[in-house]
Amino acid sequence: MFNKNQTYEQHDNEKISFYRSSVEDLNSQDQLTSDIDVDICIIGGGLTGISSAINLSKKGYSVILCEARKIGWGASGRNGGQLGIGMRKDQFTIEKKLGLKHAKELWSLGLEAVEDVKNLIKENEIDCHLVNGVMSTACFEKDIDEYKFEIEHMAKNYDFEGYKFFNKEKIREEINSKMYLAGLLNSGSYHLNPLKLTLGLAKVAQKNNVKIFENTPIEKIKEEGDRVQVMSKKGLIRANQVVVACNGYLDSILGSKKNKFMPINNYVVATESLGEKRARQIIKNNYAVCDTRFIIDYYRFSEDWRMIFGGGETFTSNFVKNATSFVSKRMTKVFPQLQNVKIDYSWGGTLAITVNRLPHFGTLMNNKVSYAFGYSGHGLALSVLAGKLIGENIHGDHERFKFFSDINHMSIPLGSIFRRPIYSSAILYYKIRDYLNS
Ligand SMILES: Cc1cc2nc3c(=O)[nH]c(=O)nc-3n(C[C@H](O)[C@H](O)[C@H](O)COP(=O)(O)OP(=O)(O)OC[C@H]3O[C@@H](n4cnc5c(N)ncnc54)[C@H](O)[C@@H]3O)c2cc1C
Repeated sequence: MFNKNQTYEQHDNEKISFYRSSVEDLNSQDQLTSDIDVDICIIGGGLTGISSAINLSKKGYSVILCEARKIGWGASGRNGGQLGIGMRKDQFTIEKKLGLKHAKELWSLGLEAVEDVKNLIKENEIDCHLVNGVMSTACFEKDIDEYKFEIEHMAKNYDFEGYKFFNKEKIREEINSKMYLAGLLNSGSYHLNPLKLTLGLAKVAQKNNVKIFENTPIEKIKEEGDRVQVMSKKGLIRANQVVVACNGYLDSILGSKKNKFMPINNYVVATESLGEKRARQIIKNNYAVCDTRFIIDYYRFSEDWRMIFGGGETFTSNFVKNATSFVSKRMTKVFPQLQNVKIDYSWGGTLAITVNRLPHFGTLMNNKVSYAFGYSGHGLALSVLAGKLIGENIHGDHERFKFFSDINHMSIPLGSIFRRPIYSSAILYYKIRDYLNS
């Protein structure tokens, strides 16, 4: 077990991840060592921060970005690589919460998010191995009716024809596992190497004159008249506007705002390369896959045909000691044929889950501080969108930012003391539920 004071320090004891091994580090300014005056200071070097930096620098602002460790150190460089349309919850559930009109706005923003990422990859020639298709796989009988309802509902109310249903026999032809009762292919979604995307976008930000300081944790922010002071150990930043983009790694910078989400640690393994032929015997059409359990399994093949398998959560401030055996158990339950395959890498990451599973956007300090977090495991595309909407909002166009900032978010009761323990009882309940249903 390993515990340090700050959430971004949780990864200090780990070996290199597959993603980190697949890239070269960014040539950044490294640490901030002197005071600096700037239009915009961004805190956090994941996709939310980098996308905010690109969008704001393109609008003519001077921008610096401070990352506690390395660019992509957080979830953006550690995730399952599934670039999904929509939100974490299905549209029907969102309609019940927010009404049809608002749900439709969110749906079209979700489509725009994936389109934007695709365009950024193309325009900037980011080599991050984009592959089409994400398959949801049914673990419970009830999922079959839900898939059918979803297809019909989305075609009727959203003109979305990108879903395809697979019965038990057909899903077995696609995914070589006995676990699943049906499948729902989403052809609007993709998968990719997320750290290659993150670093590719960081280079785009640098080309737009964003100064990136790695190894620069921010300790505190403070309102100072019509500006904000941003304090790091070795330099004081004075900015007109600050963007806080720390997601699951957010500690105290925004005060009690951290109680609007639950930080969860999720784990991933990468096997040795299986080669294309063997990989396609497991996932015929190279889709990414996620199942329907509360604690989901999600997996896909990498650009060099390793099985990248994610699953298993912990909710304490410690990471598990041996993520390899923690995740392999889940993997070999789905694919017993991978029993003897070597695991080359294992790692974990922290994500931010909100009570309603929708991201939380907002501003503080008389609109001088903007934030977005809580993508609830569905943030690869939405974090890039968040940066765009934060850019629009700071530049005076508030409409689309408000589609998210208007959403009401419950706090975790007595969050600073209990948010992890409260969630742990909820997780225990769902673990038992998954177990009983499996
Ligand atoms: C294991 C895992 C699997 C996932 N799988 C998927 C998936 O397949 N599809 C999907 O859509 N989403 C997935 N997600 C979620 C997705 O990765 C996140 O929603 C998204 O990357 C959030 O981006 P971000 O930039 O907001 O946060 P992050 O990428 O977490 O970046 C936050 C950054 O802030 C930095 N930071 C924190 N505190 C400070 C400070 N005080 N000063 C300076 N810097 C600071 C951290 O070091 C970190 O680099 C997954 C997440 C995890 C952990």
